[in-house]
Amino acid sequence: TAQVVPQAPEDPLFGLMAAYRADKDPKKVDLGIGAYRDNNAKPWVLPVVKKADEILRNDPELNHEYAPIAGIPTFTGKAAELILGGADSPAIKEKRVTSVQTISGTGAVHLGALFLAKFFPGNKKVYLSNPTWANHNQIFTNVGIPIAQYPYFDKATKGLDFEGMKKALLGAEDRSIILLHACAHNPTGVDPTLDQWKEIAQIIRQKSHFPFFDTAYQGFATGDLMKDNAAVRYFVEQGFELVVAQSFAKNFGLYGERAGCFHVVTGPASDAQETITRIASQLAILQRSEISNPPLYGARIASTVLNDKALFAEWEENLRTMSGRIIDMRKALRSKLEELGTPGTWNHITDQIGMFSFTGLTEKQVLKVREDAHVYMTKNGRISMAGLNTNNVEYVAKAFDKVVRE
Ligand code: PMP
Repeated sequence: TAQVVPQAPEDPLFGLMAAYRADKDPKKVDLGIGAYRDNNAKPWVLPVVKKADEILRNDPELNHEYAPIAGIPTFTGKAAELILGGADSPAIKEKRVTSVQTISGTGAVHLGALFLAKFFPGNKKVYLSNPTWANHNQIFTNVGIPIAQYPYFDKATKGLDFEGMKKALLGAEDRSIILLHACAHNPTGVDPTLDQWKEIAQIIRQKSHFPFFDTAYQGFATGDLMKDNAAVRYFVEQGFELVVAQSFAKNFGLYGERAGCFHVVTGPASDAQETITRIASQLAILQRSEISNPPLYGARIASTVLNDKALFAEWEENLRTMSGRIIDMRKALRSKLEELGTPGTWNHITDQIGMFSFTGLTEKQVLKVREDAHVYMTKNGRISMAGLNTNNVEYVAKAFDKVVRE
């Protein structure tokens, strides 16, 4: 049977990382990686994470026993509060939420997809934004849920194609699954405004669609956790039944530790708690067969911070450091390009938010800056803002300027 397995294409992002590593030029710049870097282009362990690690290491009670199937309750409970808007969220007060600790955001999207593949009673088709995080396609395909797309990015304005998006959601068969990025859309950095979210919610309601939120950048976009969950909070306040896949990779810098959560929120019906209990029982079976029990370390770190007022405040400070540096780099890149008089408009660099920016560079230009200037970015023209720093932003701006003029 081994002979029938065809060669799979290389993951484009990991291929890019390998090419960057192999490049010997000292001027090389990595704008591909989706991870935060400090001003010296180095990974940054959040000071609050170091503190939590210290606390855990000094805890004589800690052991390496299995976590419960649904994960560490002090972690999942606070994780739900974080994305749903605090203990006062109607869904939390009315106990209409069930949460399962997952293998970071990827595992959360997967568990959600698997759950919907098995139990979703509507049109088993998921609508993804065009473009979206590439892994969405594979995850839903793997569980047998067909994929459709809704327009999202307007190439002309480098902003949201709101009319196209609304039209597609209205045109989709009733009761379809709609995947939405809660904030800091990957790869475009373009989010709907709250008023636009309200219109989107209204269409989703009208069409009885099912919202599936993916949140991987809460607190990372604006630096304000409550601002970055505004869309999810609004949908919950409106009484939607929905699911959320939540990652703590970026906002805690816990990438490799795989800390995440999957949440199901039911609507405010009189039998909501009974429904939630049934859903939780099914999620436990899926989790058991997939990973049995989730990993401890990352969830323990996050739980330590989320459950302590002082550490939480320090985390917010750390988030502001990361988001602030990124916003500074947006301003710097835009102003350097404008100073150089680079053809085109560059306001989108500061209009877009979160870790990424969709520069508008074509695939040809992307390959050319890689070859000529050793600046690495994905072929769709996406740059990770965290790869920029005060030492390389001018160099990158000049490289973009040159390639745009050619
Ligand atoms: N969703 C989106 C939109 C993302 O950008 C990411 C991170 N690249 C994830 C989910 C999940 O990442 P992880 O599994 O590392 O938490």
